[in-house]
Amino acid sequence: MFTNGHKVMLMSKKAKVYFGSIQQGREALFAALAAKVDKIIELLDLSTIENRDKVAIKMHLGFLDGFQTVPVFFVRRVVKAVKKVGGWPFVTDNPTSVYNAVERGYTQETCGCPIIPAAGVKDGYTNIVKIGYKNVDKLEMGGALHDADALIDLTHSKGHACSGYGGAIKNLALGGYSAPSRWRKIHGVEQSIQYWDPDKCTPQHAKTLVKACPYGALKYDPKKHNLSLVLFACRNELCLECLKADEKIGCLQIKPEFFSAFQELMAINTKKVLETFDENKRFFLNYILQVTPHCDCMGMCQPSVVPDIGVLGSPDIVAIEQATLDLIAKVGLIDGSVPPYFKHANLDPSANLHPFERLWGPMKNPYLAIKFAEQYGLGSRKYDIVEILSPEETSKMKPPKQTYERQPSFY
Ligand code: SF4
Repeated sequence: MFTNGHKVMLMSKKAKVYFGSIQQGREALFAALAAKVDKIIELLDLSTIENRDKVAIKMHLGFLDGFQTVPVFFVRRVVKAVKKVGGWPFVTDNPTSVYNAVERGYTQETCGCPIIPAAGVKDGYTNIVKIGYKNVDKLEMGGALHDADALIDLTHSKGHACSGYGGAIKNLALGGYSAPSRWRKIHGVEQSIQYWDPDKCTPQHAKTLVKACPYGALKYDPKKHNLSLVLFACRNELCLECLKADEKIGCLQIKPEFFSAFQELMAINTKKVLETFDENKRFFLNYILQVTPHCDCMGMCQPSVVPDIGVLGSPDIVAIEQATLDLIAKVGLIDGSVPPYFKHANLDPSANLHPFERLWGPMKNPYLAIKFAEQYGLGSRKYDIVEILSPEETSKMKPPKQTYERQPSFY
């Protein structure tokens, strides 16, 4: 099958997803998350990385005033594992995040490897890739990412204002490209969908619609007589105040395609990044801790809206994303942690909605990008979860003699 010129494959094979829970059955190092992360990395089997392979550890390093990114504590463990098999790792992200990464504790010394901007210091070292989806003809992929021999997609799983969820796919689909590609083209794809009829709408009515939106998602330019709908701000089916204000005129539509176009493009962009690596040199790790409602791009501290879950690892990007969302769905939202600016959040437990749909609206269904990714042949949504050192298992293990101030002790 082909859609929009892109090959579509149907995947059915089950993928393995390794899971280390933050919960532990013993007050013991062997039962704690760091030990589980080490075991997951071991099971991922980095031995396909060859001697001197340049290994891109693609992260979102966050921005100035946010700290809820993947802790350097875990980055060091990944870096050590890559070096152990002979690879030469480097951490990579956009140049701004790299430039101020020190504010969040990321340096060459703390990570144990260089931190290199994915598309160079001026975001201009890029490879042009043909996309051909809606209004996006081509994009600029980060040259340093493109040059690498192996990839570790090291992701903080959290909410996202455009797609409900931001994880391993988002980390490559947006983070793998230069800022002009990200901000103008990828974050502009929804504008290829017609949602407003300018002939039916007077300037006065356009202003009424803008006023009706409680999230500032509608902007009107009277000079151009243009009403824009801002994807990230719109809460779609949770809200629909604009449609009430438009009842008598009927010039505006809140269409599912407006939201899904962004998610389909994410799947396509991710495919382009993954295609630059051998299939057996791609590894995925999702940190489902401090799950914030917004993306790390916000560069601010935010409340965690779901309980901490743990860490997942898989060679399959689709399976790890599916498992991540399923685990988040299982634990649900911490209602008391939902910020008051989610005025229309649906906290009714009987509603059949994913926690991220409760916040961002059902048209920002977090599973959409994953469904598209599977259709584009990036992996399988079917998975077997393999829990490493589960609390049940470790609770039965012999407790060690407790030691303090280890490695080494200055006491
Ligand atoms: S659905 Fe709500 S948030 Fe979206 S544009 Fe309409 S009024 Fe604004």
